[in-house]
Amino acid sequence: MYLITKGAAESIMLAAQNTYPNEFFSMLGGKNKTIKELVIVPATYGKNYSTFRIDLVPFDPEIIGTVHSHPSKYNSPSKADLNSFSKIGEIHLIISYPYTFENIAAYNKYGEKTELKLIENAE
Ligand SMILES: [Zn+2]
Repeated sequence: MYLITKGAAESIMLAAQNTYPNEFFSMLGGKNKTIKELVIVPATYGKNYSTFRIDLVPFDPEIIGTVHSHPSKYNSPSKADLNSFSKIGEIHLIISYPYTFENIAAYNKYGEKTELKLIENAE
């Protein structure tokens, strides 16, 4: 199970809403299985895809995973998602339309669903 702060979850929901109908992509910062913030990286937004340049991702030990949005009601990973999950990070979130907390699904690097719990603040 992973934890996510209210602030980080709200940033994800807002960014996904603002980017709709395109996909939104960001890295996740945090540690000890707690997601604390978004780490925005140079990314390409598209209608049905989002990519990022792995060479432009800063080396940051506090980056623990990724998040991206799906402008549909499905938050299960695509083949391309599963491929990128295995490359970087340990926790990967997908938020689907209409972008509320209930629409966020969490996966490990193998694409297996993981529980995500909302917390007020990180210690
Ligand atoms: Zn996807």
